[in-house]
Amino acid sequence: MDSRGRPREGMPRRTFLAAALAGVTTVVLASCTPEPSPTGSPSPSPSPSPTFTPRPGPDGLPRLTAMRRSRWGADPYALGAFSYDDVGSTEQLRVALSRPVRDRVWFAGEACSTDAPGTMQGAIASGEAAAAAVAVRAGDDERVVVVGAGLAGLTAANALVRRGLRVVVVEARDRAGGRVDSVDDDDFGGSAQLGALLVGEDADAVAELLDEASVDTLLIDVPATALATDRDWVPIDPAGVEAIAEAHDWALTQPQDVSIATALVGSGAAAALSSTPDAHGVRATDWLAHAISSGVEVATGAPTSRVSAVSIDRDRLRRTLRVVQGRLGDVIDALTAEVDIAVSSTVTHIAYSDDRVSLRLGTGESITADRVIVTAPLGVLKTSTIRFEPRLPLTHQRAISLLGMGVLDTVWLRFEEAFWRTDAPSGDASASMPDADAPAATPDVLTVVGTSPTVAAWIDIGRPTGEPVIVGVIAAAQATRLESLDDDEFQDEVLAALAPFATATD
Ligand SMILES: Cc1cc2nc3c(=O)[nH]c(=O)nc-3n(C[C@H](O)[C@H](O)[C@H](O)COP(=O)(O)OP(=O)(O)OC[C@H]3O[C@@H](n4cnc5c(N)ncnc54)[C@H](O)[C@@H]3O)c2cc1C
Repeated sequence: MDSRGRPREGMPRRTFLAAALAGVTTVVLASCTPEPSPTGSPSPSPSPSPTFTPRPGPDGLPRLTAMRRSRWGADPYALGAFSYDDVGSTEQLRVALSRPVRDRVWFAGEACSTDAPGTMQGAIASGEAAAAAVAVRAGDDERVVVVGAGLAGLTAANALVRRGLRVVVVEARDRAGGRVDSVDDDDFGGSAQLGALLVGEDADAVAELLDEASVDTLLIDVPATALATDRDWVPIDPAGVEAIAEAHDWALTQPQDVSIATALVGSGAAAALSSTPDAHGVRATDWLAHAISSGVEVATGAPTSRVSAVSIDRDRLRRTLRVVQGRLGDVIDALTAEVDIAVSSTVTHIAYSDDRVSLRLGTGESITADRVIVTAPLGVLKTSTIRFEPRLPLTHQRAISLLGMGVLDTVWLRFEEAFWRTDAPSGDASASMPDADAPAATPDVLTVVGTSPTVAAWIDIGRPTGEPVIVGVIAAAQATRLESLDDDEFQDEVLAALAPFATATD
């Protein structure tokens, strides 16, 4: 089964499920009734509607010809984009979540990572760690069920298969990959990545998988300019990021954790910023709002009133990233080659004792195994989609409850022409002296300052190939609000958000 949801041998789902489980488990085919969604209502499609109808955009804008959007907050098998440190969260919560329960139930996934939470790197590392821990406990020929075929689950499953254990991955969606979601679409050069898209310079495990699957990445410049309300590109003032750093330092001296919003006030960092507009009408306070909307909210998917001031990683707000130039799903396909995956199979119940585990699926089928690794996202663990019997230890319950799950969405747009882009090459330091009369290159990452943006940042993903394709990143409250809009309303909002960049390059 690959990331497109295709069984490798072309088997239909039921046959494939039975075949996948047969070698590993005791299966009770209790019923073949349709599988209920976790909420009891029909599942919202985790992937975007392909029924895109272009609408007239703001005056003068070239025609939009294709759109793909995500809705991770409403996706029943994610219920958010990634975990973040809510006020009061500590690294110890993630450690607690990773601890085995009676040596039968393990957890893995990005929320279990202390080094790289909320990322692909963290998911892979946690999958490796869980598999290594299970392998130490497991006897020869043991049977292990992995819940979830995202990066963490597939990494764990491959590691256990290599160690000779019998493994089956049980996945609720009809495809592998989880929050790595490559939707095939020729309008976007073959596929649009609706989940993870960027790779940190220190994400070694991701880089290795990309290399093995021959998926290219391209360095994107940390933006040096933002678009002011007077339609001029202005240098990004570090005052905003510095105020957040000051708030963080102040929070470290407090008896207990507070939110970034509280720390900005308590430290005096926000009040110290000038509210006098400069020649472009931009105030220092606008740069703080810019650092929050394009930095904190994109990194966490949450508002500053929720994010821990102690835990905020200031380096994450402005770091060098690489953007995937191809189909990230190829990485997932490579990881599915050697493992059995039962797709369209939602785990609803996990009973465990000192000796074994028993899982029930939404279809009514049951599976018994020696151990289970649960990689369902934190957003799902926060609900009663999967019921544990007995209940999880308080340390696990506390971690699941206190860690936050942020919301982030992406929208891929293709136009008749790239009206936001100048012809100048992107910031290539090695380029020869620029022509003084040539227009300045627009940055790879486009942001606005001085207004509250609907779309936190735009990534000019089509620039290397000259394609008129751009990706919008929508974060926190804006993401939740836009998810509730239908495709027409959504289109109106994102086109209005992109329109100022057209006038800027006139
Ligand atoms: C919009 C967006 C942008 C992102 N951008 C980046 C980025 O640029 N760089 C980066 O490194 N990371 C990014 N991430 C985060 C990254 O995608 C995740 O951290 C990573 O993919 C998580 O992998 P995982 O295996 O922990 O979880 P998942 O990929 O979510 O896998 C968990 C699996 O469990 C399944 N599941 C859920 N419930 C059940 C159930 N009851 N029964 C069976 N199966 C179940 C799910 O369907 C899913 O397939 C982004 C995420 C989003 C949403």
